[in-house]
Amino acid sequence: MNLAARCQQIDSSGIRKIFDLATTLKDPVNLSIGLPDFDVPNPVKEEAILHIQMGHNRYTPSAGLPELREKMKNHLKSRGLFVEDLLITSGVSGGLFLSLLALLNAGETALVSDPYFVIYKELPTLLGAKIQYLDTYPDFRLTPEQLRKVITPECKILFLNNPANPTGRILSRETLKQIAEVLKGSGIWVISDEIYDAFDFEGQHSFFGSLYEKTVTLGGFSKTSGMTGWRVGYAAGPKELIEAMIKIQQYTFVCAPSFAQYASLKALDLSLLELRDTYRKKRDFVMDALKDHYEMQKPDGAFYIFMKHPKWDGNRLAQEAIKKEVLLVPGSIFSTRNTHFRLSFANTDTMLQKGVDRLRSLSHE
Ligand code: PMP
Repeated sequence: MNLAARCQQIDSSGIRKIFDLATTLKDPVNLSIGLPDFDVPNPVKEEAILHIQMGHNRYTPSAGLPELREKMKNHLKSRGLFVEDLLITSGVSGGLFLSLLALLNAGETALVSDPYFVIYKELPTLLGAKIQYLDTYPDFRLTPEQLRKVITPECKILFLNNPANPTGRILSRETLKQIAEVLKGSGIWVISDEIYDAFDFEGQHSFFGSLYEKTVTLGGFSKTSGMTGWRVGYAAGPKELIEAMIKIQQYTFVCAPSFAQYASLKALDLSLLELRDTYRKKRDFVMDALKDHYEMQKPDGAFYIFMKHPKWDGNRLAQEAIKKEVLLVPGSIFSTRNTHFRLSFANTDTMLQKGVDRLRSLSHE
């Protein structure tokens, strides 16, 4: 078929392939998927139903409901991020797509920390841009010195992901300041994906956008409110950029789902502290159970541990784990290296117990 050449440059998500496999297993422990293990909170569901019944089923403005934009802006301000302008996107994926369309030309370079969230590689590739990886093994901390060495006039974008998928790493405010210092005067835009900001176990997270002007901050409700299927996120940044993104949204997504935007107003009222504490306990449980058996760095946030089997590479480990009906994602999906694997601890305590038991037995093979 004479499809556009760009279709050959990207691969369908490796994570999804593993997820499909799970449906064929009898007693699977699925530690592969990056979804919270809880459903949308009841008050948020009720709000969505109410608005569907009230007839709020039509297009909203492309930029999002004015009251949600305003409330989100104030919410971010109360957490230390001054926002010049903001639009509501179809999830953070929508925000990533719009910001790249608005900022990145074919032939320009996007800087990506390795390991990385898959979209940071695939979307710039779709747009005909180049990727320059910044290897952050073994502690997954991007350093200002490392960044300074790779900057060239072709560099246009730096992706930051704080807390990070797949490593759970949070860069300290001090490091973020140093990174901002290196970028000053370079013309580089930072796409700062902070979708896991509520999962900040030691209270270290701060917004990069509060330190560097040419930043678009992305976040949303998928992970924090269990709303992955409702597609609501936001993009916050300088007015000129946000206006360009709104213009592109008019011709692509049009708007985020209307009922879900109304429900998001409610979601913003709910405290996420209990959620954070629950997930911290899950992290500690898995760490304690596996730290003497696998090589790992304690994650500061998100809900992933990126770890390494004593002998096998990441692909081999993922294959052996499937034989024990445990689903994990090989690190090669998120990296140019094939050494680690990603375990998601967003699961019930019973499943996590089963999972760590099976993984402990694999570590001696
Ligand atoms: N960014 C990161 C780092 C993610 O892990 C994910 C989801 N796995 C997304 C963005 C996409 O989120 P959304 O569902 O809001 O599009």
